[in-house]
Amino acid sequence: MTQRVFNFSPGPAVLPLPVLERAQRDLVSLPGVGMSVLEVTHRGPAFEAILQSAKQRLVELLRIPANYRVLFLQGGARLQFSMVPMNLLRAREQAADYILTGSWGKSACQEARKEGRVQIAWDGRDHGYDRLPGPADLVLDPAAAYVHMTSNETIEGVQFRAEPDTGQVPLVCDASSDFLSRPLPIARYGLIYACAQKNAGPAGVTVVIVREDLLERSSDALPGYLNFRLQAQEDSMYNTPPTFAIYVLDLVAQWLQEEIGGLAAMQWLNQEKSQLVYAVVDASGGFYQGHAQPACRSLMNVTFRLPTEELQAGFLAEAEQRGLYNLKGHRSVGGIRASIYNAMPLAGVTALGEFMQQFRRQHG
Ligand SMILES: *Cc1c(COP(=O)(O)O)cnc(C)c1O
Repeated sequence: MTQRVFNFSPGPAVLPLPVLERAQRDLVSLPGVGMSVLEVTHRGPAFEAILQSAKQRLVELLRIPANYRVLFLQGGARLQFSMVPMNLLRAREQAADYILTGSWGKSACQEARKEGRVQIAWDGRDHGYDRLPGPADLVLDPAAAYVHMTSNETIEGVQFRAEPDTGQVPLVCDASSDFLSRPLPIARYGLIYACAQKNAGPAGVTVVIVREDLLERSSDALPGYLNFRLQAQEDSMYNTPPTFAIYVLDLVAQWLQEEIGGLAAMQWLNQEKSQLVYAVVDASGGFYQGHAQPACRSLMNVTFRLPTEELQAGFLAEAEQRGLYNLKGHRSVGGIRASIYNAMPLAGVTALGEFMQQFRRQHG
């Protein structure tokens, strides 16, 4: 199969074609280096330039203020579920507040319980995680060590439009599945983490953006790799960083800057794309049932159901025949999930919308 299909996978997920082509073109020998990016030492000038470029592009794209540090770590978002409370909660009297808006928020909370005291600021369980809390719904402790949120619940398809107000308490955000999909007011956050393989690059690297004062909480007793302060001191070079993943992330950031025109433009495109699918859901007379409440709908992961399991199976099979892949919902929620990250072209979403309309006409 040499033809590319439209890949709606939740992650690892579609990457921009120009990024793949550039990586392919330069794979055997980086221009001016004479070696592959897979072969160069992380301590040499070639990789040093890549690391600094990736960092600088993130600073520019997200307008990251000077009192924040950008780290490139391994272990995925899952390791951050532990690393965040190890550094910010362990051995403290205070508790951490967790906002549970779906499967990933719940997992983050479970891991935090191993490190310290945890309080549930809100839990969407009774509604099947189809909505988000309003400001009045949150039970926040003004003395909490931090508040943890998940900006986009990849499995349920609910996404915050704005940050909850946590006052002086640092806000920690798992932004794995909407990182770089829109501008973010970084100064509202204490720490943001995102594994790259949803929207920012390949698996293997996780970006952590952390406010400098929070680094003081990291205890020297922590294993070196798991210590944010040490990772910041060593500029993500405490050990060998995931060089290839950082290289591709840099190419993705360059694509966002030079071909898309920044994160506001990206957000506009993402709105267009998701609206196209939601409009088909809403105009289907109940044939397609969206999982998320309309006000909380994700621009990244569109989740919906068909009337029966048989129709769902038929939908998935027919979609593949049309080159629309990986639309099956997560086993915990069922139904259909169309992940339409930054790199999903408008043509893919248009093809999906047309297929959905035709399928409903045939089976509705
Ligand atoms: C995918 C995902 C994770 C898990 O990421 P890993 O890199 O597999 O550990 C965590 N949180 C969110 C929101 C995700 O989408």
